[in-house]
Amino acid sequence: MKTLAAVMHEPGRLVVEELDLDELQPGEVVVRMSAVGVCGTDLHSYKGEWNRPTPIVLGHEGAGVIEAVGGDAGALREGDRVVLSWAPACGECGACRRSRPAACGPLRSAIGKGTLLGGQTGLSLAGETVYRGTATGALAERVVVAAGAAMPLVDDVPLDQAALLGCAALTGVGAVLNAARPEPGFSALVIGAGGVGQFVVQGARIAGATEILVVDPVEARRAQALGLGATRACAPDDLREAMEELDPEGVDYAFDAVGAPATSKLALRWTRGGGTAVVVGLPAAGATLDLDPFEFSNREKTLTGTIYGSEDPAVALPKLIDLVRSGALELASLVGPSFPLDRADEAFQASLAGEPGRVLVTP
Ligand SMILES: [Zn+2]
Ligand SMILES: [Zn+2]
Repeated sequence: MKTLAAVMHEPGRLVVEELDLDELQPGEVVVRMSAVGVCGTDLHSYKGEWNRPTPIVLGHEGAGVIEAVGGDAGALREGDRVVLSWAPACGECGACRRSRPAACGPLRSAIGKGTLLGGQTGLSLAGETVYRGTATGALAERVVVAAGAAMPLVDDVPLDQAALLGCAALTGVGAVLNAARPEPGFSALVIGAGGVGQFVVQGARIAGATEILVVDPVEARRAQALGLGATRACAPDDLREAMEELDPEGVDYAFDAVGAPATSKLALRWTRGGGTAVVVGLPAAGATLDLDPFEFSNREKTLTGTIYGSEDPAVALPKLIDLVRSGALELASLVGPSFPLDRADEAFQASLAGEPGRVLVTP
């Protein structure tokens, strides 16, 4: 079996090549990808900020249709519509036992090595191993994954919108509903209104926030956030003024959807005494955070973090789909520009340029 895929041989450039796929094994399925979102994680690798083996196929947020089943794949059948999970974890380690498959030890090791959970990639180019981004490698026509990584999707959510559910929505909504778990009537600050940030805004609205202030340098992203439930939005330079208007003591919950040390510090800075700051985005490799201990010992703030929505995606996805069906969770307006596979490189450039909405590749 072969597939076309967008391959990164060195950071900063993707080229489409035809790759060989290993023979389908029991418990695996082939997904014909319909749409793949460009996530911040992919951009870190693309910019060379993370040390990943090459050549590698990036992409881990996607939706498609099952094209073949390798036997022993549970209830999955050819023709089923699915959303990819990038955390089909070991099921046995401490993180897995507390329903955090995305924090699974063996999975993290596999992601670092550019392989699937079992240590293989199942992908090659002229006999040379091709690695997989985030244990997935979704930027391809066909992706072979463990059956557990193909999560069933209902018929009434279009596949391009469903792609967003696979990472941005699970991560952003889960950061609020599962990691922060606020009581209704809270105030929130959301730093960064990219793909994940827009879902943090929606999660905060769904959880009953009375104030949601969004800070982002891109005007179009701020406007989008205001349409999705943010009550205020400002550029980074105007944050102090906006916070003084909202509440000079700070917000109950601050979410850093960027994940850089500077934005994490900002989130903690504008969290009120006794409040909680949640780091949602991921930093460049080697980044460190220096903090004033008085924020904790004197002001009793909590700084915490979340990965992949702090829940097993197989449990969280059906709940998100219910929210989509009830109209509480908006997807359609969050779909940004889409590019065919042979223009995947342009898709990454568009995402880096701050296009509002999730930039999609449609293989
Ligand atoms: Zn992602
Ligand atoms: Zn595990």
